[in-house]
Amino acid sequence: MPSPKWLQRMTWEEFKLNLERCDVIIIPVGSTEQHGGHLPLGTDTFVANTLAEGASEQTGAIIAPPVWYGWSPHHMVLPGTVTIRPEILIGLLFDIIEALAHHGAEKFVVINGHRIVNISWMQIACEKAQRVLGIRAAIFDPSYMSKEIVPELEFGPVGHGDEIESSHMLYSYPELYRAEKVLDYIPDYKPLLSADPAFQGDTLCYIPSTIKNMEKSVKVAKGISGSPSRSCKRKGERYHKHLVQRLSEVINNMQEKEE
Ligand SMILES: [Zn+2]
Repeated sequence: MPSPKWLQRMTWEEFKLNLERCDVIIIPVGSTEQHGGHLPLGTDTFVANTLAEGASEQTGAIIAPPVWYGWSPHHMVLPGTVTIRPEILIGLLFDIIEALAHHGAEKFVVINGHRIVNISWMQIACEKAQRVLGIRAAIFDPSYMSKEIVPELEFGPVGHGDEIESSHMLYSYPELYRAEKVLDYIPDYKPLLSADPAFQGDTLCYIPSTIKNMEKSVKVAKGISGSPSRSCKRKGERYHKHLVQRLSEVINNMQEKEE
């Protein structure tokens, strides 16, 4: 299996050569925010990175250095969280694409590791990049791309540090998983107020929680919502492989399509 093609490990000559072989660049975007007592602050970025690595091995796509920060105002309730303003995220993502487009890259897949929270800003940056720079961009969102497999794996609803995220971390980064620190917190079910893409009923658009709501999850489970005690390495592996396959398909489709 070839190794993942991280841009920061290449010389400029190797970058040029690799871009000639596969003209799609992956940009992982995550966050630095609390993930309860059992997962590290960098979880969302680690998740984006491991998917990028899997797809890079299969397709040869170059991976740009990850964006380790996202919009996390609601998680400022716990220490270590670093939130950046949406306009900074939009500007940073646009500048990264602009610089790489200057060097000849024309196709980009941006991976969203930060659940629903960063999507709006990624859409704004990618639309502007397509319009102003004439490149093609796609956003790969694990929550939407795993809709088919999540019920089969019997994962509960999307929460935070939940069994989906925890199973994935347990599979890809077992050394970062603090099994002895796992706590569950199931928020009250509120009909018609779900923002989980896999939820079969009415699904609302997402707005970050209020600090008041976050304080409840902090009190009960150190910032978790969901059931990470149900996380499972084997399910994490199936979830991971499904997403790597989907991401590789997206990259291959973009390569074939000359627009
Ligand atoms: Zn997360």
